[in-house]
Amino acid sequence: MTTSEELFERAQRVIPGGVDSPVRAFGGVGGTPIFIERGEGAELIDADGNRYVDLIQSWGALLFGHAHPEILSAIAAAAAKGTTFGAPTLGEVELAEAIIAAVPGVEMVRLVSSGTEATMSAIRLARGTTGRDKLLKFEGCYHGHSDSLLAAGAGSGLATLGIPSSPGVTAGAAQDTLTSSFNDLQAARVLFAEWGRDIAVVIVEPVAANMGVVPPAPGFLEGLRELCDHHGSLLLFDEVITGFRMGLGGAQGVFAIRPDLSTFGKIMGGGFPCAAFGGREDLMSQLAPTGPIYQAGTLSGNPVAVAAGSAAIALAAMLDPYARMEQIAMTLVEGLAERFGRSGIPATINRSASLFSVFFTADPVRNFADAKRADHERYARFFHHMLAAGVYLAPSGYELWTLSAVLTEGHVQRVLDAAATFTG
Ligand SMILES: *Cc1c(COP(=O)(O)O)cnc(C)c1O
Repeated sequence: MTTSEELFERAQRVIPGGVDSPVRAFGGVGGTPIFIERGEGAELIDADGNRYVDLIQSWGALLFGHAHPEILSAIAAAAAKGTTFGAPTLGEVELAEAIIAAVPGVEMVRLVSSGTEATMSAIRLARGTTGRDKLLKFEGCYHGHSDSLLAAGAGSGLATLGIPSSPGVTAGAAQDTLTSSFNDLQAARVLFAEWGRDIAVVIVEPVAANMGVVPPAPGFLEGLRELCDHHGSLLLFDEVITGFRMGLGGAQGVFAIRPDLSTFGKIMGGGFPCAAFGGREDLMSQLAPTGPIYQAGTLSGNPVAVAAGSAAIALAAMLDPYARMEQIAMTLVEGLAERFGRSGIPATINRSASLFSVFFTADPVRNFADAKRADHERYARFFHHMLAAGVYLAPSGYELWTLSAVLTEGHVQRVLDAAATFTG
């Protein structure tokens, strides 16, 4: 028995499924999850001493790999002064200023502790400011696990488990959630024609990255912007993955579309629980204490998390790793396509900036229905082939391949060499 197998048995006795977030259990690919001992830059070392190229990067939370020295020293310096005060600190102001400076659509921002909290709070704000109840989301987009956002086909974790929605979500919470197909502007128009006056907010991942990567079709995001303007609804870009990963200005910077509200998480926490929602000042100032819409958090703006996040964003601003990361993504996409082609394996690889993922299908993947039609059993075999070859991919075909700025050409070659020996 491996150490990971022993630990997983022990974990399952005290933690449901042995994990604190379901996708970690390898349910989508079978087998035993590996327990991580430590990370070094772009690599992970498991409890049995095996070393992997890490293409998960804590589900996108890390841009500069594991244990980056500058982020570690920012964390140590902050922690030495005390880890939480429940009172304002300079660090929060600096992180808010950095986000506002980087992201075009953000004039004011409030810090929270998870992406789930960010989207939940932004939706309350949208409902509170518009006086409307309904939200429109897209199948396969994931926005965290709050009730109203788990109403139907909610993306990676649930898609992997094959559960359309979750028991425990009330009919009342679900009935205010409208769901449409990603990239289908005509379907959104039809929903707006019927419900336009009731829709508070349209929430969308500007590049969907929780059903695998599905870029927006030309005109889709622009069309949503127009529909929202026409009907007096707000547009919310959930940039929890795309923020600080597609570029410093997120997807809204890349596509030059301005949402009313945006949510962030993952990279902006520098590896700590730290997230944010922000947007137009006239909306954000409706939050308590300046406005009537309540939102709060004991550990919001936690000084250690904020120091880690500020260090990550400062590194991104200084090193500007985005062009190089996009180049690496292109090398991987072309190299993988070539190797799958040689082995006669049908594959569609979607990419936007440095975000990409592989679907084992010959058909284009433009929405969640397409993503589900890909061969996920083949993905499971591919995942285990890559793991055995020392490449740690997400244990689900509904996730992106997450790059880090510290990947080297040697890592890229290891990934391509491992893929070359996959026979299907
Ligand atoms: C991860 C994610 C969330 C949820 O963030 P948590 O920190 O896991 O609560 C929300 N939206 C998107 C797009 C995500 O990828």
